[in-house]
Amino acid sequence: MTARTIGIIGGGQLGRMLAMAAARLNLRTVILEPQADCPAAQVANGQIVAAYDDADALAELARICDVVTYEFENVPVAAAQALAAAVPVYPPPRALEVSQDRLVEKSFIRDCGILTADFAAVDSQGDLEAALDHFGGVGVLKTRRLGYDGKGQRVFRSPAENRDGAFEALGGVPLILESLVPFEREISIIAARDRDGTIACYDPAENVHTNGILHTSTLPARVSEATADLARKAARAILDNLGYVGVIGVEFFVLPDGGLVANEIAPRVHNSGHWTEAACVVSQFEQHIRAIAGHPLGDPRRHSDCVMQNLIGDDIDDVPAWLARPGVLVHLYGKTEARPGRKMGHVTQIFD
Ligand code: AMP
Repeated sequence: MTARTIGIIGGGQLGRMLAMAAARLNLRTVILEPQADCPAAQVANGQIVAAYDDADALAELARICDVVTYEFENVPVAAAQALAAAVPVYPPPRALEVSQDRLVEKSFIRDCGILTADFAAVDSQGDLEAALDHFGGVGVLKTRRLGYDGKGQRVFRSPAENRDGAFEALGGVPLILESLVPFEREISIIAARDRDGTIACYDPAENVHTNGILHTSTLPARVSEATADLARKAARAILDNLGYVGVIGVEFFVLPDGGLVANEIAPRVHNSGHWTEAACVVSQFEQHIRAIAGHPLGDPRRHSDCVMQNLIGDDIDDVPAWLARPGVLVHLYGKTEARPGRKMGHVTQIFD
């Protein structure tokens, strides 16, 4: 049976774009989000204003929806599991468990037969010293949980760097040290798996980050067909291993020899897939909705080269100029306050 009403946990721009895609297919959406008038609720059919783990709110969401999804990976796993007992939850809660903890995530990716950076759990300054020595004095130290857009990280670029107090400086929480990957560029792949196990992959995007935040995604990525194939194969292995339903984003480092090292997975539509709404007939947002609602997947082929650029903070002032340029799709998120580092919208420039 196909779904008619979709519950979305989380009310940000990703939920907003999912709700817009759902509406075009005559599907209703209800957002669970504590902040009233959030970006997603502005374009959805309804909102339950409550915390993500509010038991009454979750019961109400299960009652009014045929299927529930989420737009961020830090949805409490227990809440997703409780919901899944009452209504189908896609992607499966296991995908949340894996992606919420970088140590579990890296181990899972390795178990799928995909290369990752070397890594070690760091639960004390002593662990850090030992792990850094093991990695030749260089590496990237990250919080295991709740890190995003480069937050909660410290890079050790030389063995001479002062390590004193580095463990405590990241909050005294469980950490992971990763070896420093000498990458040439970063790419990501957006892929989808439907309820029958059919998989569709978009072309890999080449991503540039500024201050830890995605700045641009460019299509085509400057990688060989063999490297693009590696990315597709890796995404397929991850999707199949999780028994996944919906869209996933997988980020990779590209090595000088064209090899790939997987960095992280996002069990949701992903910022580096926003270009699909301008350069493909079926966007990642519609693809996700199709997968979870029980519709056939759409064609992921790209019809144009393009560059997607995020509008961060004051970049919102450039909107009039973007609107005046030919071949540009402008997408704004309905956020009133343009704080530094805040994603306000994005633009995708199409090239013939
Ligand atoms: P993450 O929060 O894991 O997405 O990391 C943010 C950014 O830091 C990545 O996009 C890379 O540019 C850089 N980075 C993260 N991990 C590593 C690593 N192990 N080696 C080299 N660069 C990294």
